[in-house]
Amino acid sequence: MNKLIQLHVDIDTRINAIRDDNTDWQCKMGCDGCCHRLAEVPRLTTVEWELLQTGLIALPSEILQEISHAVATLSKQSTPFVVCPMLDKLKGACVVYEHRPVACRTYGYYVQYDQGLYCNDILERVTGDVLKDVVWGNHNTVDRQLRYLGETKDLTKWFANWEGVTL
Ligand code: SF4
Ligand code: SF4
Repeated sequence: MNKLIQLHVDIDTRINAIRDDNTDWQCKMGCDGCCHRLAEVPRLTTVEWELLQTGLIALPSEILQEISHAVATLSKQSTPFVVCPMLDKLKGACVVYEHRPVACRTYGYYVQYDQGLYCNDILERVTGDVLKDVVWGNHNTVDRQLRYLGETKDLTKWFANWEGVTL
């Protein structure tokens, strides 16, 4: 099993454990607040980009074109929050869900030291002590494993160097 797939398996194991113990966990299709408010342009390692490309290529060409244009707009954007170009805003769903980057898989279920990596909805439940029994994943471990997978680049750079796709 390659290292990225192994990392996905480890993340899914953590997420399933949290969800099994918290059956009303908020993260589900249609809850897309985090995809609307990315703190920065997503950064991906080469293997994550290769996986994402597989998902992008499988999309209808007009959707891929829309995403390409949205990515091109991102590089000129100056507002603090980034709406992910791969979000279907009508459905509140990720159009490359099976191929999404690691950061999207961990968000809402992992922390970094004592710093939350989750949205305000989950934060409210954390500060309200509702989630005091949750055994969160440790994002530092994930970051370490990602570093073994190679350098990261902005999504905009990956797209800019992607032959055959017009930005
Ligand atoms: S992290 Fe927050 S906004 Fe994102 S899916 Fe989960 S509950 Fe919804
Ligand atoms: S790739 Fe998908 S899951 Fe990740 S931020 Fe974009 S829309 Fe959300």
